[in-house]
Amino acid sequence: MAPHCTDTPPVPEADSTPTQHDGHLFHRSLAQAPHMVESASGSNLHLSNGRTVIDACGGAAVAIIGHGNQEVQNAIIKQAQKVSYVHTQSYTTPVAEELADFILDGTPYGLEKALFLGSGSEVIEAAMKLARQYHFERNEPDRIHFVSRKQSYHGNTMASMSISSNLARKVPYKGFEYQHVSHVTPPYAYRYKLDGESDVQFTERLLRELEDEFLRVGPEKVIAFVAEPIIGATAGCIVPPTGYLSGARKVCDKYGILLILDEIMCGTGRTGTFFAFEQENVVPDIVTAAKGLGGGYAAIAGMYVHTKVVNALRQGSQALNHGHTYQAHPMSCAAALAVQKILRRDGLVERCRDMGLVLEKLLRSELAECKSVGDIRGRGLFWAVEFVKDSITKETFDPSLGFSGKVTQVSFHKGVAVYPGVGTVDGLKGDHILLAPPYTVTEEELATICQTLKEAILSQE
Ligand code: PLP
Repeated sequence: MAPHCTDTPPVPEADSTPTQHDGHLFHRSLAQAPHMVESASGSNLHLSNGRTVIDACGGAAVAIIGHGNQEVQNAIIKQAQKVSYVHTQSYTTPVAEELADFILDGTPYGLEKALFLGSGSEVIEAAMKLARQYHFERNEPDRIHFVSRKQSYHGNTMASMSISSNLARKVPYKGFEYQHVSHVTPPYAYRYKLDGESDVQFTERLLRELEDEFLRVGPEKVIAFVAEPIIGATAGCIVPPTGYLSGARKVCDKYGILLILDEIMCGTGRTGTFFAFEQENVVPDIVTAAKGLGGGYAAIAGMYVHTKVVNALRQGSQALNHGHTYQAHPMSCAAALAVQKILRRDGLVERCRDMGLVLEKLLRSELAECKSVGDIRGRGLFWAVEFVKDSITKETFDPSLGFSGKVTQVSFHKGVAVYPGVGTVDGLKGDHILLAPPYTVTEEELATICQTLKEAILSQE
């Protein structure tokens, strides 16, 4: 059984002292400084004014084993006492090797190699470059194009941003991005499934669109199809219909196109299996992971690579043409290894699946009376609530109202931190919130989260 948090002070109704801080640190917003967190434990963030809020989104689906875990802290200290850094050009460390082996040993999916970098965007860039290198090594240098999906997010660096569809983040960089990218319709049933269309028909239509896009570009020019198995932040927990990902795999295989699955948010147990793709009967060529890998205890992300891709390098240049000074950083690997060992030892992936069922039930019953709730969807402990002005027509709120932002704010003041949606729905700002609590979350905490969310939503209706 996962540890229960016992040190939760009562949550006051509203802020007494402001917790926002603005100094020399470059925050994401110059208009609104973030809240100062003094410490964190279990599912809770302890603010500088003494208040506590439940971290119902684990940061952004990061804190999978909760905050303040002493075993992880000890592992980091122990590693610091052994070796804190070596350059991977010439050296490796037992802890980095053990982390790769711990994750990939015994997986039946042919994933052979793991590269550890510092962030999700970095591993997406690495995956894009490796996929290109795969074709280059196999004498197909004309492959330069990526296909990804609308309403998906793969990162903030130039190439990862190019394949993403977070339109607001792209505005200042128009013309500056990687150009050889196109986006197809995601399996976002609430928005894109036609009236009377079955799941099978919807899936077939999306797969036809994917294949048509390959044919439009010229399949001999396409490097890879990049997709989140469950789309996270941008559209809000989009679970594809059964057969969608395995169908996409077949379309890719038909043209020698690689399949890159981005599990940075939905992976590492978040949806109830270690890899989200395990539930979809599909094996990717490259998988990326990040948030749950280090569980927030270190900045670490992973790229897991299938033997098929590794072999192309083995039979070619014999080198991965990519690297960073801080890759496989021993301290980060120590933190991640400790997190992953706890995950496995304590059965937290299974717990995540089971608590996910509790969360779904609570969400569906608590939010039933909220007329602005258009859709509730997710899997495991990864859930989104999409807001609409009209639940019949699914009309979105005027983006200037920032409905999900206001719900997030009220919820925070009531003691529950959720993650507001930043997506686009056919050009309009998407209005949803994400819930992604630690896998150690208790049923009582889930009940508080859903009750508070309901109050926050009703306060805006
Ligand atoms: N891919 C997905 C699916 C993500 O959710 C994110 C971050 O939210 C990224 C990539 C980028 O990761 P990072 O913010 O660590 O660069």
